[in-house]
Amino acid sequence: MKKVGIIRCQQTEDICPGTTDFKVAPMGELGFEPVGPAEIIGFVSCGGCPGKRAVARAKMLVDRGAEAVAFASCISLGKPLGMVCPHFELMKEAVAKKLGTDIQILDYTH
Ligand code: SF4
Repeated sequence: MKKVGIIRCQQTEDICPGTTDFKVAPMGELGFEPVGPAEIIGFVSCGGCPGKRAVARAKMLVDRGAEAVAFASCISLGKPLGMVCPHFELMKEAVAKKLGTDIQILDYTH
């Protein structure tokens, strides 16, 4: 099972505990299809707008064993608020640059 760390939007924390992510990850479904069945080894937020803490937190996830880092659907697909993070592309680019090519980046979770 691939070990995955998840970064979520801080603004959705009050209304979503990430239940669907934890449900679909072990089955390797939806956003986890590229890695197959996955174990979530950490679930952190971006730290709030504009997401500058995402880079350090992504590194922390890798240091704790993550082989892939996923951006939760609240960030890239705007679920459940209906508002996509305006900083997603920059945040993803910065995280990918920091983690290098050995760590797979998943754009969404479900
Ligand atoms: S930077 Fe994006 S993901 Fe982070 S709190 Fe703001 S809107 Fe949410």
